[in-house]
Parts: sequence; C-alpha cells; structure tokens
Amino acid sequence: MRSVPFKCVKCGECCKHLAGRMFGMVLTPTEYMRMNRLARMHATRLDAVPLVGGVIGSRLYQMTHDTCPFFDKRRNNCKIYAQRPIVCRMYPLNPSGLMGCTALTKLTKMGLPVAFPEEMKREATKYLMTVDPIIKGANLVYGLDHGWKPKNWFTLREKFGV
Ligand code: SF4
Ligand code: SF4
Repeated sequence: MRSVPFKCVKCGECCKHLAGRMFGMVLTPTEYMRMNRLARMHATRLDAVPLVGGVIGSRLYQMTHDTCPFFDKRRNNCKIYAQRPIVCRMYPLNPSGLMGCTALTKLTKMGLPVAFPEEMKREATKYLMTVDPIIKGANLVYGLDHGWKPKNWFTLREKFGV
C-alpha cells in the first residue's frame, strides 16, 4: 500500500503541551545537565523533578513545564533546536504509542500508512533501548499530580482511570 511521508508543519503545538496525563517531558541525566546549562544561557529556568525511583544507578528527569521554556513564542520555534533532547527528535513517535500531533492527525485522516523519516526512527529506537527500559524497570514513579507512587499504581490508573 502507498504510504504518505510524515512532514512536520511547524505548528509548535507539541512544545506547548509537555505535561502528559501522568508525566512531564522525559530527560536523561545528560540532557538534564545540558538543558540546565542552556537555560542559563537563554536567561530562563528549567523546572524538572525525578521521574523514576528504585532503579539502581539509573536516573531520569521530567520537566514540570507545560509550555517548554525553550519555545520561542514570537517565532513559534525551538531556541535550542540543534540541542533538543531525544523525545523532541523522535516526536510524534513514542514507544507508548503515536502521540497527538497536528501533521500526523491530518495524514492519518487520509487513511494511508505514514512513513516516518529514518532519523526520527533512529531516535525512537535510541529511546526504546535506553530510556524505556529504565521506566519499565523502576519500582517508583513520580507523577506530577500525585508525587511518588509504586509503578503498578500508574498502570492501574491508566487502565481503570483511578
Ligand atoms: S505537533 Fe506535529 S506538526 Fe506540530 S510542530 Fe509538533 S511535530 Fe510538528
Ligand atoms: S526543547 Fe525545543 S523542540 Fe523540545 S519541547 Fe522544547 S521548544 Fe520544543
């Protein structure tokens, strides 16, 4: 079957809705340090909290912002585009399922499979190999609205909406 190539329409919507139902935007420790440094350079502030607990030697952070502090509202683009984290590079591909995206919604309405760029798929694979196992292996997860909770609490919440 013919497929349609994914093409971002640069609406900026994904940078304005970072806080998901349970977590904020995920950052690796390296990205967390880099974005803190970039925040100082851009005279802004990065607000982030841990994401996982009970994983020996592994850390992840999540941003608590809804609109990213690196989003340039005037130009409607990213101020740190070349240095953006993995989650931004792979969006809207996500191991938890394809996420809401203006361009993707439009393309899927055509009823054809969407072909994602190789670079985007590489970033999603990187996330699957490095970030995803840490989240899956964690005993505790920090939810933006509920604080620290056992991992299975989030699974139940997602399943039953508790
Ligand atoms: S929501 Fe989709 S189309 Fe809009 S900027 Fe983000 S990736 Fe591009
Ligand atoms: S780092 Fe850039 S691409 Fe990623 S959410 Fe922020 S503004 Fe958007």
